[in-house]
Amino acid sequence: MAQYDLVIKNGTVVIPKVGVIRGDIGIVKEKIAALSKEIESKEAHRVIDAAGKYVFPGAIDSHFHIGIFRPMDEDATSESRSAVWGGVTTICSYFRTGKNYLNKSGPYHEIYPEVLEKSKNSFYTDFAYHLTIMTPDQMNEIEKLVTEYGVSTFKYFMFYKMLDLTGAAGSDKYLMLNTSYDLGFLYKYMKEVARVNEKYGTYGRISLSIHCEQPEIINAATQYMRQHETGNPLKDYSDARPPFSEKMAIKEAEVLAAQTNCPVNLLHLSSNDAIEAGKEAVERNPKLNILLEATLHHLGLSNDIRYGRLGKVNPPIREREHVEALWDAVIHDDIKTVVSDSACASKKIKEGDIWTSLAGFGGAEIMFPLLLTEGHRKRGLSLERIAELTSYNSAIYHDLYPKKGTIAIGSDADLAIIDPEKEKVVSVEILHSAQDFTPFEGMKYKGWPVYTIVRGKVIFENDKIVGKPGDGQYIKRPVKYHYRNEYSVKESD
Ligand SMILES: [Zn+2]
Repeated sequence: MAQYDLVIKNGTVVIPKVGVIRGDIGIVKEKIAALSKEIESKEAHRVIDAAGKYVFPGAIDSHFHIGIFRPMDEDATSESRSAVWGGVTTICSYFRTGKNYLNKSGPYHEIYPEVLEKSKNSFYTDFAYHLTIMTPDQMNEIEKLVTEYGVSTFKYFMFYKMLDLTGAAGSDKYLMLNTSYDLGFLYKYMKEVARVNEKYGTYGRISLSIHCEQPEIINAATQYMRQHETGNPLKDYSDARPPFSEKMAIKEAEVLAAQTNCPVNLLHLSSNDAIEAGKEAVERNPKLNILLEATLHHLGLSNDIRYGRLGKVNPPIREREHVEALWDAVIHDDIKTVVSDSACASKKIKEGDIWTSLAGFGGAEIMFPLLLTEGHRKRGLSLERIAELTSYNSAIYHDLYPKKGTIAIGSDADLAIIDPEKEKVVSVEILHSAQDFTPFEGMKYKGWPVYTIVRGKVIFENDKIVGKPGDGQYIKRPVKYHYRNEYSVKESD
């Protein structure tokens, strides 16, 4: 009788922190059950021949915005489908109260169950949420969110602190707030995350993710740039939110993190200035294990290519020298995770000019193709490091390890099988997102997924989705707390 439900044979298996091996993977139900030089085909109900292919742990896209501009369930379905085409098996999405998303404010114990309900039958990938605490009342919910709801990562936007009553992004009408959202708020927020981390830290790292841009500087520089446009909107937008505003924000965040002992994740660093400040923060605070994150668009795009407002994102797309500085930080292991920061938009919602158009766009589907082409082929980034950047490190920093993030016995059988020779030119037509444009239009990438497997189930194969929405499950984090029985065996047992 066959011992395995599925066996992946003859692949080049990329195991983070172990290396690249030639071998077979045996899967029973949802888990990896064997790793061996050879597993005989007769031992398997189904065999996938991965000869000439890379077998990576499925990517964990740990920065996503499901439902920000579209109905949550619809967005979860279309964008997780697109992510599956890209070898992503877990999405960790941000959610906050206020405008966009569910357009409401209130306690998370009322709103978060609604988020989970809308998500339940909508995802092709497994999923988790990071929550943004917007009010003092929500701050009191942090411990319960960790222990009952399985949310172990929180978020703060430094540029939301300027309140201007206009209803534009960053105003109190937009955020539906009647309290200040300033550094004092952040200080109290960090103290509470640190307290909860102290209490549950043995199970994982309870942390605060921060969008680091300094709002007073942005306001001043934006006023100036609106009077001094150059004809290249993306360049103007970058100068309106200058790299040194990221550096300043990171330094403010570092002082508070060190003062409160709060583990922090510095999101989507876009410039050399941000990287330098981030590296210093990491070095000065070894105990906080500060995460530096980069996005696909800051690694793959530069503002000399004229996308105009469709390429508007925060922080902005920068000059080439900043792009190279980011790659350098990726190669030297200063940047630990690469994410899409996907927020499915449309040409329609991005109407207006560079100043009034909404920020953000999607791109999860090009995760492996971009890293294999621009990283591995062009810059010598090893396959093992790509597995760390896309999966292992995200699992460690966002409390999914060892359920996710590696190829090991007992881990979820989440795999992305990549054909290193498959080449495609990016266009809206070849991508599977609901977004009707892509700033990556025309990029030629080599190394596209041919199979995506989520917890032992083939979801995508041979250019076809074979899974269904609802195949993806909600993952409570830290997994070592919520799945204690699965991931800890008493030595006497
Ligand atoms: Zn984001």
